[in-house]
Amino acid sequence: MKIVVIGAGIAGASIAAELAGSVSVDLVEMESQPGYHTTGRSAALYAPSYGPQVVRVLTKASLPFFSRLNPTFWLNQVLLPRGAMFIATKGQEASLQRLYADMGPNPDVTLISREEALMRCSILREDYVSGAMLDVGAMDMDVSALHQGYLKRFKLANGSFWPNARVEQIQRKGNGWLVSTASQEFFADVVVNAAGAWASHIGKLVGASPIPLTPKRRTAMTIDSPSGTDSQSFPAVIDCEEDFYLRPDAGRLLISPADETPSVACDAQPEEVDVALTVERIQAAFELKVSKIRSKWAGLRTFAADKQPVCGFDDRVDGFFWFAGQGGYGIQMAPALAQVGSALIREGAIPSAILDMGFNPNQVSPNRFAA
Ligand SMILES: Cc1cc2nc3c(=O)[nH]c(=O)nc-3n(C[C@H](O)[C@H](O)[C@H](O)COP(=O)(O)OP(=O)(O)OC[C@H]3O[C@@H](n4cnc5c(N)ncnc54)[C@H](O)[C@@H]3O)c2cc1C
Repeated sequence: MKIVVIGAGIAGASIAAELAGSVSVDLVEMESQPGYHTTGRSAALYAPSYGPQVVRVLTKASLPFFSRLNPTFWLNQVLLPRGAMFIATKGQEASLQRLYADMGPNPDVTLISREEALMRCSILREDYVSGAMLDVGAMDMDVSALHQGYLKRFKLANGSFWPNARVEQIQRKGNGWLVSTASQEFFADVVVNAAGAWASHIGKLVGASPIPLTPKRRTAMTIDSPSGTDSQSFPAVIDCEEDFYLRPDAGRLLISPADETPSVACDAQPEEVDVALTVERIQAAFELKVSKIRSKWAGLRTFAADKQPVCGFDDRVDGFFWFAGQGGYGIQMAPALAQVGSALIREGAIPSAILDMGFNPNQVSPNRFAA
């Protein structure tokens, strides 16, 4: 079987690495740097209590993968302990309770008092926080180590990586596909659409089912840590209604307004209005005076309407596989989702460890939107 994977962000790199070895795979990427778009712009948090239920299952199912890293591919440890604290201010108590109830039984997740929240993050304003939920299972991720590790594993399994190659046309050839860039042609029995914010565009090239996928801009920036605080030991602090977050980041603090502004597929840049909003929300919740932004960026998180990933063969177009809609969780669930995608393509069995956690492939099927 010959497979072309379009897009070498974390989605394309991880599924290509899972497939290579057993089948022939070309991984085709339009940029010179495979992490140039969303994958290289994340906040690098592994948060098993974040996202819809199927995302949380896939995130938890990815954990054993991280602890069994093969040193040939992954030179750095990918996960380091951090913790995540979801906070409520006055009036948000019901949202916090709903969030906690939605977690189901999970020994890592507990409701904590306002006093404990202030103790864990000493720069939280005393008059701001009224309650919190702590997830001790949240961790810092080394996204580059994970992404580069997948690319290395792919190449060692004889996969062929083609950077600077934008797919412009996909045509039927016999029972398969002819995938064309400006200067090359690739034959494929199966095309895997891992094009991130451009996934809908790739779908249109083959006349696939229209999937409601929307790229949404998210802004992030770093600021100096306040002097005289042990800020690098703070957990990630996330507003329970997702209006902002703050987390330690390599000696600084990473902050975001948790924006989700619909966008066309593009090289996203931060908007001044979102930067100003971030500063306003962060200064309201924390004893911080943001006087200098050290770095700022934005990236597109691409969501299906139900915020669940899209992973499976298109019912209407033979040999066309969707691997898109990773939203705000594409790194933390990459190992398990890539195993699922690879099993579906090879008509193999989805690992029982993933199914046993309650995963059902219908939850991520592209055909769930057909009705
Ligand atoms: C600010 C921010 C914070 C985030 N924080 C987290 C976090 O803490 N934890 C987490 O798990 N996730 C986080 N995410 C989400 C995560 O980054 C994404 O889910 C993930 O990177 C999506 O990966 P992808 O491979 O689908 O997309 P991308 O990385 O965008 O890869 C798609 C690739 O397809 C290529 N491509 C597109 N069209 C073509 C074409 N025609 N031909 C060839 N190649 C093409 C693009 O160049 C691109 O490289 C965050 C995202 C942002 C923006």
